[in-house]
Amino acid sequence: MTLEAAYEELVARLKRVHSLGSIGELLGWDEQVNLPPESADQRAEQLAALAEVIHAAASDRRVGELLAVLEKAKAATSQDERAVVRQARKDFDRATKLPPEFVREKAEQGSRGYHAWAKAKKEADFASYVPVLEKNLELAKREAAYLGWEDRAYDCMIDKHDPGMTTAIIARLFTELKAGLVPLVRQIAASKVVPRKGLLRGFPVDDQRTFLREVTERLGFNYGRGRIDVSLHPFCSGTGADVRMTTRFNKDEPLDSLFSSIHETGHGLYEQGLPREHRGTALGLNAGMGAHESQSRLWENQVSRSRGFWRYFEPKFRQLFSKQTAGVTSDELHLAINAVEPTLIRVDADEVTYNLHIILRFELEQRLFSGDLAVRDLPAAWNEASRDLLGLEPKNDREGVLQDVHWSDGAFGYFPSYCLGNMMAAQLWYRVMEEQPGLQEDFARGDFSWLLRWLTENVHAHGRRFELPELVRRATRQELSPQPLLAYLNDRYGGLYLT
Ligand code: ZN
Repeated sequence: MTLEAAYEELVARLKRVHSLGSIGELLGWDEQVNLPPESADQRAEQLAALAEVIHAAASDRRVGELLAVLEKAKAATSQDERAVVRQARKDFDRATKLPPEFVREKAEQGSRGYHAWAKAKKEADFASYVPVLEKNLELAKREAAYLGWEDRAYDCMIDKHDPGMTTAIIARLFTELKAGLVPLVRQIAASKVVPRKGLLRGFPVDDQRTFLREVTERLGFNYGRGRIDVSLHPFCSGTGADVRMTTRFNKDEPLDSLFSSIHETGHGLYEQGLPREHRGTALGLNAGMGAHESQSRLWENQVSRSRGFWRYFEPKFRQLFSKQTAGVTSDELHLAINAVEPTLIRVDADEVTYNLHIILRFELEQRLFSGDLAVRDLPAAWNEASRDLLGLEPKNDREGVLQDVHWSDGAFGYFPSYCLGNMMAAQLWYRVMEEQPGLQEDFARGDFSWLLRWLTENVHAHGRRFELPELVRRATRQELSPQPLLAYLNDRYGGLYLT
């Protein structure tokens, strides 16, 4: 077989696996958006049947043979081909190195874990959750060992979400970030400037829908290749020509609906911007969760909380909601858009304190995996870290260690991505401001096309060719660093709260 033939066949097989996976995503989207209340069991059977088909295609021996041919002739292949083969090898190993009994055990434990967590959270009863978490930790370590990461289990978890990142790299970045961030949060918390509570109330859902459609379309989301619906928790799934976003509405929290929608739009723009002809291979795949989050955060925070953005959208907002905004000044609105207030709950956190919630989780995960911290001692460690970092102490474990769903199905190493995304977003932001100093003027005219084009060329177009540090280096000509994020937060929020 020629090399070209082997590569072509590999790509065809990867595309098929990807198409099957995208059917699964569509079923998952439908489950959260449309599923009738009594259809859950039938959907679970459909998903299980599909998972078997996907696993069979992904672990087909033929894929292993093709990879062996291409890896042996590595020197004769192009850089792009090597990127495709590298990713395909990773996926093939994942599909073949985990024993079926292990995969089944982990899936069952995931579903049991979710219910145990939901109950423990409701009753603020951490003790009942201890055995579940211990089991999840053990499964994660076993998984790492099967995949060849024996003594680096936490690195294995991190690499699943952000290829190329390690505990050591993240620890260094987060330590630097923490040193700059804790004092800033303390200063803002002590500031006399306080956003007015309950400023925006009674926003009809239909009008909110109209406004957010206008905003997301203006930012560049292509509704010919995607849509937005309503679900309990906003998310974005799908890719290429079919991107499905969701949002939620609350008539007394119009900014929450708007900014979650913009956040998902950032994810959606990334998926729509990936090279369509390469869908299913590393060349058409997103670069990982941190990179994904950099896109959602950039549009949500740097762009849509800026003065320029609101110079264009504020008159439209006021026109659509004239009654609700009658007594609200522009400065009050801007402060509400950029409200900062330390909270115990990560998902309610503002842009400034959010990163401290992530650092807290990263440090605890690291200690859990190293064996330095026992699961039963987690609540005390959590509360202590919360006091140190946020200056707040949970009254019970519901507002502390039990608040997040992630660990209940073994999703360790997931949290750092959020913060890596924030760092990358700030770095991209400074880079684009340098290249296009008139960006805020563009925004004020409702023109976001330069930014989207730049992101498409410098981030989206690369697919998964590069790991996060290299992607950042290429796009910004700088090493991944927390300093731009600190500079951005000090600049924007210092200006609002510390003058
Ligand atoms: Zn996100």
